[in-house]
Amino acid sequence: MGRMESIYWPFTHRCNQYCGHCYNHSGPGGPTVTFAEADAVIGHLPKPNRLTLSGGEPLVERELLLHILNTARSRFGDDTRLALQTNGDLLDEGTLDELLDAGVRSISIASQDEYHAKRTGLRERLTALLESRGLRQVDVGNPQTSKPAERTFSFWGATPDLWLGGLWARGRALRNDISLRDPGHNFCSLWSGALGFLDAGSPRQEIAIQLTKVYPCCPGTVEPLGDVAEEPLEAILERHRGDPMWEALNRGEPSEMGIVAGVDMEFASQRIKELGNVCLWCDEYFTKYRRSKTSPNPATQSWPEGDPQRRPLVLSGELADG
Ligand code: SF4
Ligand code: SF4
Repeated sequence: MGRMESIYWPFTHRCNQYCGHCYNHSGPGGPTVTFAEADAVIGHLPKPNRLTLSGGEPLVERELLLHILNTARSRFGDDTRLALQTNGDLLDEGTLDELLDAGVRSISIASQDEYHAKRTGLRERLTALLESRGLRQVDVGNPQTSKPAERTFSFWGATPDLWLGGLWARGRALRNDISLRDPGHNFCSLWSGALGFLDAGSPRQEIAIQLTKVYPCCPGTVEPLGDVAEEPLEAILERHRGDPMWEALNRGEPSEMGIVAGVDMEFASQRIKELGNVCLWCDEYFTKYRRSKTSPNPATQSWPEGDPQRRPLVLSGELADG
């Protein structure tokens, strides 16, 4: 079996900011994993080509972040590329040196948009800081252009074409109706969508872990695949291989996820058009057409009352007639 390509791990939802477009409700006082949970998660991960630590704002949990980096490095060695996604507000010389000593090879500054409060002058300050330590600036969205040992950084943010158009029908972005609802944008089939999440050894395989819960994609399905603090990630994935619904998502085709339950593609495509977003259809399928088996994803639970197209979660919903 080939090595897993990428694991994306927001290990904390604590943040120094409280942005209106945040896709997972992060902010001051948000939930975070314990040191023991972090150790359990790392102990259950296969060795990936890349491990990205994110939040929330990971630098708010500096001691925990350094512990995770050091534990992951001693378990996986230096040929797993350790990456950090941060808003950059708390990144200074001393912190950067600690991160580099702990093995971080890639730093992604994800706050270059109109929603982040402290972005003025940040790009210039961080570019000078990161270049002073020999990091090379690269374009976001193509992590494979970097050599494994090379130290790189990038800037990005929530622009309509990059993220708001198809992703972020989640969290406060959904509650505040910032996600742009483009039904023609199939995020599921793009990088960080579900495409290839079951395909061990595929360069497309990325798994998202929100705190300790495992999802096939960055937005997160209503139900997680499992809890990686409790069992190995590969055992969780193996349990879902061959399930027609998860296999449809693995193909990046949410319009096919309900065929096994009698919900045909024509109906699914119509609902995607009406809802304006493939992930909202995915949520509707889980809540209306599939019997839920595990606790739900909190990021999918903030739909405004009174909107008939955004249903509250129904955890024991009957299979409907479509
Ligand atoms: S969008 Fe980023 S910086 Fe803003 S609250 Fe969420 S995690 Fe924090
Ligand atoms: S459609 Fe479902 S599985 Fe695909 S990216 Fe959206 S939430 Fe994830």
